Amino acid sequence: MSLLIVRLLVFLLLFWAGWQLWRVWERKQGAGQEHLGQEKKPHLDSESMVRCAQCGVHLPESSAIHAEPYHFCCKEHQKAFEADQ
Ligand SMILES: [Zn+2]
Repeated sequence: MSLLIVRLLVFLLLFWAGWQLWRVWERKQGAGQEHLGQEKKPHLDSESMVRCAQCGVHLPESSAIHAEPYHFCCKEHQKAFEADQ
């Protein structure tokens, strides 16, 4: 009977130790990804963010309306900007 309890305790201890190791490992992985994300963001901003010539909002170049040399966030702002010219 006492042997069973010892086995149970050892099992629980191993389980707990494994869980702690997994948590530490997961935290390391998460920190690594966070670090990569922080390095990537300024690159993305300088590389592909454009400013709407009408309202000044910044948006990704891929989702902007291009009317060289200007960029717009929507067709309404492009029309409004061209009307002001
Ligand atoms: Zn706009």
